[in-house]
Amino acid sequence: MDAHHTDDLDEWLARLPKQTPAEMLAEVDAARRAAAEAPLPEPSLIPMPDFPYSWPHPLSGTVRFACPLACGWHHDERPGVDQARERIVLPLDPEQLERTLTVNAEARAAAMQARIEGAITQHFEADHPGR
Ligand SMILES: [Zn+2]
Repeated sequence: MDAHHTDDLDEWLARLPKQTPAEMLAEVDAARRAAAEAPLPEPSLIPMPDFPYSWPHPLSGTVRFACPLACGWHHDERPGVDQARERIVLPLDPEQLERTLTVNAEARAAAMQARIEGAITQHFEADHPGR
């Protein structure tokens, strides 16, 4: 690696705001939660997902939520595809960048959870009324 480049990186890292261990832990925790592509569903409503297609199947990114009553219905999510469709404007400031990525990941996870819950609720109303 080029020495000049390394110096620049060190300098850049040194300029990053220092955090307390508690802040770092909180951030790592937030990042870990945000990074989970499929947030762990509420056991009462959202079933554990299956991954019906393995790579290199063209649909290998599919996350499938089957009906908890095993009637054959399912709802598919393709997180990678959702992500590719999104256009995010990324700020240059590292602190804002971090925040933007976290907010985006949380918004994506929340939107996906709402979609899955909505699909399952509709399915229950249509095919399993009263359950
Ligand atoms: Zn069903």
